[in-house]
Amino acid sequence: MLYRLARSGHRACLVGGGVRDLLLGIQPKDFDVATDATPEQVRALFKNSRIIGRRFRLVHIRFGRDIIEVATFRGQADDSPQTDTDDNGRILFDNTFGDIEDDAVRRDFTANALYYDIHDYAVLDYVGGMDDLNQRRLRLIGDPGKRYQEDPVRMLRAVRFAAKLDFTIEQTAADAILEHGHLLAVIPPARMFDETIKLLHSGCALRIYQLLREYRLLRYVVPALDEWLQDDPSEGLLDFVDLALVNTDNRVNTGQPVSPGFIFAVLLWPAVHKEAMSQQSDRRKMIPALMQVGETVMKRQVRHVSIPRRFSQMARDIWTSQPRFHRTQGKQPLRMLGQPVFRAAYDFMCLQCRVGLMPHKLERWWTEFQQENPVPEKSAKRPARPRRRRRHAG
Ligand code: ATP
Ligand code: MG
Repeated sequence: MLYRLARSGHRACLVGGGVRDLLLGIQPKDFDVATDATPEQVRALFKNSRIIGRRFRLVHIRFGRDIIEVATFRGQADDSPQTDTDDNGRILFDNTFGDIEDDAVRRDFTANALYYDIHDYAVLDYVGGMDDLNQRRLRLIGDPGKRYQEDPVRMLRAVRFAAKLDFTIEQTAADAILEHGHLLAVIPPARMFDETIKLLHSGCALRIYQLLREYRLLRYVVPALDEWLQDDPSEGLLDFVDLALVNTDNRVNTGQPVSPGFIFAVLLWPAVHKEAMSQQSDRRKMIPALMQVGETVMKRQVRHVSIPRRFSQMARDIWTSQPRFHRTQGKQPLRMLGQPVFRAAYDFMCLQCRVGLMPHKLERWWTEFQQENPVPEKSAKRPARPRRRRRHAG
């Protein structure tokens, strides 16, 4: 693919996370390509491609199941009429083209700005990225404060890469996070959701959670959790969040699916649990309390990080299922098994048992109960029997 660009007289390099990970001996997740061809020229070269993006225009080229992202070298954002910033200096649009060196300095971290040129198989380093990579140091290109102002999401990226690569955030870049964290409040909730998912699905969510607290960024990602942490958190719920994140990381690292619905249920549970308990001490009336508190907490959360409906609904279903696990008599348990949310709610309940928030015997009971009542594969939606067509006489 790179060769097709090259043959047509264009320059093409691998760049970004793919090059960084290769140099670190990590399996790259994907490859990004940077080129001097314009999006239109790339588009013309590859039938299976389309131009996407608004903030940044890119070309996606499809190869079977993989998509390669091709970006045109970008120039200095500063004074170009093609660049649009808001009052905080945040870049809204930026489609100025430039040469490879301009492109390098516009990237976020030096370790992310290494290019692999397919002409001579050389690694091109315009910003001292190799040295930082060898020192396992995450350094922002240019003045950290200014770069965070241009795009506050870079602060979340710093935390993610520090955790994932086990790098230290260089001191001025780290200090500037404490100073500029509040800028995350202006990021559109949809972009916050995308970025939050990357944090939570990184396979190192526990470490990221610790770093978000350390850098005082958690309040922009999960404000209710941050407030709960400030306000005399209880041991059991602290352990619950930690254990759930360890579990999530294990699942991600062994290729098992994790649902954003489940993770948000976990992260918001301390706030929901605490508030519901303070409103209602009678366990039999807990479900309506959880419904109401769950709705309030979720409403507030989605103002910061817009969680798609199917996930927020799943989180609320997980919460309201919890009191039902106490009922092990009658028809209720079998009915529980048939609920679409059962499996997630059960996993959630097991975590609660393990940190002492629910009685241990419940985990055992429900585990055995499931073994005794195996749910047939497609039980939730039993396929409708093919209807016999009635012939109407006449
Ligand atoms: P990974 O894909 O492993 O999460 P990555 O470094 O490839 O990490 P991407 O989001 O895929 O991250 O971005 C690709 C490259 O684009 C980055 O390596 C970086 O050079 C540049 N980049 C991405 N986001 C930004 C940003 N907000 N500001 C500046 N440069 C960025
Ligand atoms: Mg990438």
